Amino acid sequence: MPSLPVLVLNSGSSSIKFSGYEAVNGQRTKLFEGAVDGIGTDLGQFWIKDADGKKLVDQNPALPTRAVAFKLVADALHSGKFPMPVAIGHRMVCGGPTVQKNQLITPELIDEMERYTAFAPLHTPIAIYIMRESLHIFPGVPNFVCLDTYFHRTMPEVVTHMPIPDEYAAMGVRRYGYHGISYESIVHQLQPSVPGKLIVAHLGNGASITAIRNGQCLDTSMGLTPTGGLISGTRTGDIDPGVLLFILRKIAETTSDATAAADKLEVVASKKAGLLGVSGLSNDMRELREAIQAGNAKARLAVDKFTWTIAKWIGSFVAELGGLDMLVFTGGIGENDIASRAEICSGLGALGIVLDPARNNVRGPAIISAKDSPVTVRVIPPAEDLMIVNHVIRLLGE
Ligand code: AMP
Repeated sequence: MPSLPVLVLNSGSSSIKFSGYEAVNGQRTKLFEGAVDGIGTDLGQFWIKDADGKKLVDQNPALPTRAVAFKLVADALHSGKFPMPVAIGHRMVCGGPTVQKNQLITPELIDEMERYTAFAPLHTPIAIYIMRESLHIFPGVPNFVCLDTYFHRTMPEVVTHMPIPDEYAAMGVRRYGYHGISYESIVHQLQPSVPGKLIVAHLGNGASITAIRNGQCLDTSMGLTPTGGLISGTRTGDIDPGVLLFILRKIAETTSDATAAADKLEVVASKKAGLLGVSGLSNDMRELREAIQAGNAKARLAVDKFTWTIAKWIGSFVAELGGLDMLVFTGGIGENDIASRAEICSGLGALGIVLDPARNNVRGPAIISAKDSPVTVRVIPPAEDLMIVNHVIRLLGE
């Protein structure tokens, strides 16, 4: 069986991550990984590591635009030091209502997905740019889109339908849900014994939580956009719509341009709110924990809001699932912030969720529940790139 080098391109709002895998039969071997980070800031970073973690590239370049950033990646991938991919997988946050399946990327498909930029405005433009460039710089290599919304396709209509006038629902306004590739990768890692009633909390700078029944998504916290659901680093999460209207009217006092006002509201709700907004200090959990240690009351309130909201969602998901077998924490905070996990679970004993403080005192994969806890609580890092490689290999064979 020949080896199949697969390239994964995974863009965030200010970063482009990439990795190369060799796929032989069911085996997946990481060959290299890298990232350009800090696009549009003064803190540009560009690094590539080999399979053993040895740094092959480590630079601090100026990254004024995504074009400059992607050119660095493209030049490195064409330098002859890395195998030419036979296929490329692109992570895409949202393809809109008409593009819900992972599939081969064509110029027409990119145009179609671009129509729904408003559904993930921080993520879609850079992903669309990279897809167009990738078709151009890797001619003849099939490119596939892997959607974060794909895992959530099994949610029932009662969950996806928004309580709005039908004319807006007809425009594709509904709950899509995000972080789907991470959730899929957790279910994949739990196979062949995926618990029937499972909740996974993906707690990173963006945070969401998902209820999974028999391996399929039943409900998730993010909605039309990744701004919905849990309070996260810089996003409001679910909020009384009247609050957004109040802020919009305040903004409207300073401009008569409706689009400019909407853009400003977007910045408030997506970039200035959440942990950053409440603490007035930082969106980074490590900094907030340090501030709490130093007695900062606003940092304490921000983190309390975060953990309190997550506990509420867990309670509602247990009701939806009709019980719970396993709770999994993943994402930067889920994997590393021992105190957040303890605080979230501290009031959930009545739901059968009991942590063992000694077992919880870890960073990385572990079972952290008490031996006699009715619900097993685990920490499992996501394996999103591997999931994308698996989709690409499957789609190549179709
Ligand atoms: P992610 O978006 O998944 O990379 O997660 C980023 C979040 O994880 C940030 O809020 C970080 O502060 C948090 N995080 C990463 N490492 C740690 C750590 N060792 N302790 C606490 N929080 C951490």
